[in-house]
Amino acid sequence: MTVPPSLPQERRLLTPVPGPRSRELMERKRGVVADAVASAWPVFAERAGGGIIEDVDGNRLIDLGSGLGVTVVGNAAEAVVRRLTAQAARFTHTAFSVTPYEGYVAVAEALAELTPGEHAKKSVLLNSGAEAVENAVKIARAYTKRQAVVVFDHAYHGRTNLTMALTAKNMPFKQGFGPFAPEVYRVPVAYPYRWPTGPESCAAEAAEQAIDQISKQIGPDNVAAIVIEPLLGEGGFIEPALGFLPAIRRFAADHGILFVADEIQSGFCRTGQWFACEHEGIVPDLIVTAKGIAGGLPLAAVTGRAEIMDSVQPGGLGGTYCGNPVACAAALGAIEAMKEFDLRGKAKNIEAVLKSRLSALSEKHEIIGDVRGRGAMVAVELVTDRASKAPNAEATAAVAKACHEAGVLVLTTGTYANVIRFLPPLVIGEDLLSEGLDVLAEAFAAVG
Ligand code: PLP
Repeated sequence: MTVPPSLPQERRLLTPVPGPRSRELMERKRGVVADAVASAWPVFAERAGGGIIEDVDGNRLIDLGSGLGVTVVGNAAEAVVRRLTAQAARFTHTAFSVTPYEGYVAVAEALAELTPGEHAKKSVLLNSGAEAVENAVKIARAYTKRQAVVVFDHAYHGRTNLTMALTAKNMPFKQGFGPFAPEVYRVPVAYPYRWPTGPESCAAEAAEQAIDQISKQIGPDNVAAIVIEPLLGEGGFIEPALGFLPAIRRFAADHGILFVADEIQSGFCRTGQWFACEHEGIVPDLIVTAKGIAGGLPLAAVTGRAEIMDSVQPGGLGGTYCGNPVACAAALGAIEAMKEFDLRGKAKNIEAVLKSRLSALSEKHEIIGDVRGRGAMVAVELVTDRASKAPNAEATAAVAKACHEAGVLVLTTGTYANVIRFLPPLVIGEDLLSEGLDVLAEAFAAVG
């Protein structure tokens, strides 16, 4: 089973949350960890599994965040622990660029099998999502011999120097950190809820505007890559209006531009498919993965057409720890669990529960402006009132705080900090999910 039997799947509050031991550790953190390293919930973890995080005070908290969308297979999943402990006992590091090992190759084989498209594919493994996005841009530039990179409004691609340039939101991700990398251009995305002429015209108009800007302001022949999240994560769980992604994909193909899908948050069963771009039959030239890939160990990848991947000179990609053998073993365990427990099916079940409960809540609460998302990647957008759609960051923070105090971890997000997102581990039990949503309903009732 994916859930360690020693960790009961029930919410249990023994102290106020955060409890005394967490508060004590928070004080120690304040003394030695940079203030910029913020924690959304000042509760220290002791152990975790399934849909539960047990804190250092013995409280058992419902996890609707999966450590920022990472623990798709649940924490300490049996297959992950089994494979990574066996690997750690054999060797922990040799550097793949010095003495290679089978696990790396096996992960690349799995990525070739699972990612969209029947063409020959190759991969490079990296340590983090941002590093993988940077490498996708390097590869696209090397292959196309062009420099410009197109990204979208509300995009999030990371916090390294190049990925800060690709990320849309200034505060807190970019403020004070410039200058940013050049040759990065931002165009509109099809955000149905906030599209000025309404959701029906959104896909066509947004695609037209994006393509027009690329054509007039950059010149398609200068563009190496269009980088997009098929379901935008940190920007607010925005599902681009249907038809937008295929239009951009076609434009890229027509102009020799590489279409790069950033599936770091949406990949690996999260949206009910292996990858979110499958919902509209999109086959990207390069696909970037991380988070869910390795059950919590740091691993990321760029996977793409073999001829594109092979356009980079030997030694041009990689790094000391890239594709660490323990992380590779964890990834093989995570993928084993995704298949064995049909986590794509589980994500669809979770979507049904989340959407029905959240839609019912939105009938009661005028401040819920929109319910959206796919699979176990669903969100509500909060507004002051439905007519103005003015973002309601204050209520968002208050609802999240009330959930946290009642022992349910929810995360907020969005360009306007007015989105509550639900990213539960896909192995969460339906009762636990339902209990978490009961707490959410109480939080909305309390906040009004
Ligand atoms: N791209 C997307 C879509 C993400 O959601 C994230 C992280 O949240 C990143 C890139 C950056 O990944 P990492 O935090 O592993 O660098």
